[in-house]
Amino acid sequence: MLSEFDLIKRYFHRDRPGQAVLGIGDDCALLQPAPGRQLAISSDMLVEGRHFFAGADPRMLGHKALAVNLSDLAAMGARPVAFTLSLALPQADPAWLEDFSQGLFALADEYGCELVGGDTTKGPLNICITVFGELQPGHALRRDAARAGDDIWISGTLGDARLALAAYLDEIALDPGALDQAGLRMHMPAPRVALGLALAAAPLAHAALDISDGLVGDLGHILAASNVGATLDVDALPAGPVLARQSAALRRRFTAAGGDDYELCFTAPRDARDAVLAAGRETGTAVTRVGTIDAAPGLRLVDAAGQLLDLRLAGWDHFAAG
Ligand code: ADP
Ligand code: MG
Repeated sequence: MLSEFDLIKRYFHRDRPGQAVLGIGDDCALLQPAPGRQLAISSDMLVEGRHFFAGADPRMLGHKALAVNLSDLAAMGARPVAFTLSLALPQADPAWLEDFSQGLFALADEYGCELVGGDTTKGPLNICITVFGELQPGHALRRDAARAGDDIWISGTLGDARLALAAYLDEIALDPGALDQAGLRMHMPAPRVALGLALAAAPLAHAALDISDGLVGDLGHILAASNVGATLDVDALPAGPVLARQSAALRRRFTAAGGDDYELCFTAPRDARDAVLAAGRETGTAVTRVGTIDAAPGLRLVDAAGQLLDLRLAGWDHFAAG
């Protein structure tokens, strides 16, 4: 039987020089931010049966647990530096740990983000990661920074993860190939780190967040924090390739209020349009203009012709949803 310390040593402690002054093994890790940089810190927890199905593929779980955290750094415009991992495990299962750590470190290495500590305990499967990133003071893409007249932009595509969930729950039917493709969007989100860095570098964007609970609800956080309203062209929302083949009604619903997208929603001044498109090209990330920030409060959903739509769409709320 694997002890707690053997488990950490075998699966999570790696002998590679990272950026941290001190990594796993002491009471605390030590990080030294580059001179004049700010630390950006974020935490996200994945709970079995709530954020993922029991028996979920451990390699994809390792990827997703870190990806959703890197997505928060991306949404702030921060460069990933390090992370901690707090794990509750029902048992020390070597095959599960091997796959989980492989999925986790494949993504961590892609971004040069070093695992510097954590906690390990027995209990119902629960994965909590905290990420640390760096950015230039004054360049963070904050939710309270949207201004009337800004364009609203979305990275990548929306809705395929929600479509996969609907298929897993037997709410809709998808052929196996389509379900695999949409399922990858749910299980293997790609954090938009390069785009976030490009948007914060100039800085090009005003406000940003990552879409985890559905666009309409998440955009509402920007509107509330910035004390503005918005008009959103629901038909301009970029649907994922699988969702794009579904009915117009489903497309609207799952692009506007799907969830688990991990794309960026950001606002930028009109005169930054060309620069935003260039940032998208340079980082290999599609960017689509989907609306405008208004001085008048409230969120207006319109169709391609500019007609006001009466759609009842709500973001995901863990407590409201029960
Ligand atoms: P403490 O008793 O101070 O909580 P632990 O004995 O739990 O410390 O952990 C020993 C070391 O291993 C610490 O440096 C801690 O950060 C690290 N650690 C524990 N669990 C994990 C994990 N799941 N991933 C990475 N590091 C971990
Ligand atoms: Mg501990």
